[in-house]
Amino acid sequence: MDVDVDTTAAVAARVAEALPRTLERLKAYLAVPAISCEPAHHADVRRLAERIRDDLQALGLDRARVLDVTPGEGVAMPLVAAEWLHAGPDVPTVLIYGHLDLQPVGEPEWTTSPHEAVQRGDRLFARGAADDMGGWVSHLAAVEAWLAETGGLPCNLKLVIEGEEEIGSPFLERFMDEHPDAFEADVMVLTDCENPGVDVPGLTVSLRGLMEVELVCEALGADVHSGLWGNMAPDPTIALFRLVARLTDEDGRLRFGRVHVDDARKAAAQQVPIDAQTVREGAHLLDRVDPLPVRDRSIAEWLWWQPAVTVIATTLPPPSQKKNAIRRRASATLSVRVAPGQTADEMLAILRGVLLVDPPAGVIVRLETVPGWGGSWLYTPRGPAFEAADRAYVAGWGRPLVQVGIGGSIPFVAMFGQRFSDLPLILNGVLDPLSTAHGPNESLHLGVFEKMLVTNVHLYAELGALSPAALAGGA
Ligand SMILES: [Zn+2]
Repeated sequence: MDVDVDTTAAVAARVAEALPRTLERLKAYLAVPAISCEPAHHADVRRLAERIRDDLQALGLDRARVLDVTPGEGVAMPLVAAEWLHAGPDVPTVLIYGHLDLQPVGEPEWTTSPHEAVQRGDRLFARGAADDMGGWVSHLAAVEAWLAETGGLPCNLKLVIEGEEEIGSPFLERFMDEHPDAFEADVMVLTDCENPGVDVPGLTVSLRGLMEVELVCEALGADVHSGLWGNMAPDPTIALFRLVARLTDEDGRLRFGRVHVDDARKAAAQQVPIDAQTVREGAHLLDRVDPLPVRDRSIAEWLWWQPAVTVIATTLPPPSQKKNAIRRRASATLSVRVAPGQTADEMLAILRGVLLVDPPAGVIVRLETVPGWGGSWLYTPRGPAFEAADRAYVAGWGRPLVQVGIGGSIPFVAMFGQRFSDLPLILNGVLDPLSTAHGPNESLHLGVFEKMLVTNVHLYAELGALSPAALAGGA
């Protein structure tokens, strides 16, 4: 459907005027402690889901419903779905994804009450304000403004609001299997990601994957006296240290498995304001400690696009249980962030090739895999949907999207990425580097939120002007 420029401008003006009401809606949702990882709050998750369903219905969306799935192991949180499909078959269907559940409050450093949204300066403080309530509530406002101004939307629309993103979306694939029509769309807007700055909008195009392995060294049938046998019995603990050192370069970075980053992503990384000070603050470096040298790559490339290793556990005894012995066995659990596009199996083969040859001191070395890996994701945005999104961002933010990566692993993104790899997936959001999602004093930058309200209004018009066939061809 083609909508004239004046109409879109009128809707954008309307959504801006409605900001106070939209903030009231947001605050009301944030008052519900819908913490999915705490069984005591599961009733709150459902209560919020039902409230949102009722609100979506009141807004004029069709088939607003709280969905459940066949129970399996564990408890599935509800998912809210709704739709508006009156734009016609020649107009694309846009799916909006968000999540209503919250991280626990956690740290005591909150300076406001976490479930009582408070505005201070240009930020709204509350658990979930940016992750992710502000993300999808910005869409409700855009829908409301379109319906109020024109009685319709410029595209077909589906909303999916998940109730268990913060626990890794354990049932999302089952929701996709059991309620496929809730997810059928021509283009998806997954709104749970970060902008690199409050004036720089981000389009997330990659995630690192996550895998864990336990590196085990053994040499003796029993712990033995270090005075009697030191210098002649191989020490599995020393061998373990040498193997970890073998994996890393002089900076302590993983030396193996580095990937080629193409020029487009390199150029995108140059536009992103991550500097040494951001690392210093974000990673809580002590005053006399500097960030690692960038060598020949950008900070963004190191954080998003190269694999990384961390020793996250060992079987070494704590000082309180020390003894003068060579221990029979020692092991370390290594957490490996796999590069976007790299598979865990590829990384495992690399680690095996490095760690299982020429064992230090002739000890026996094993590499055991730990279950529960998260896949990496690497996406190349191209085609008319992204051109449309850029136009909407220019209208809302004054500049097009900048491609960014995420160093961590978000299960729902990998799930959407695998299942809907042939669709345009627009991963955006209202988070910024100071939002401290998951941490204390989480906040939503209100300037970002206002820009997203206007951007969403334009996004529906821009996407609605494309044909479903053109979208399918472009992805
Ligand atoms: Zn989130």
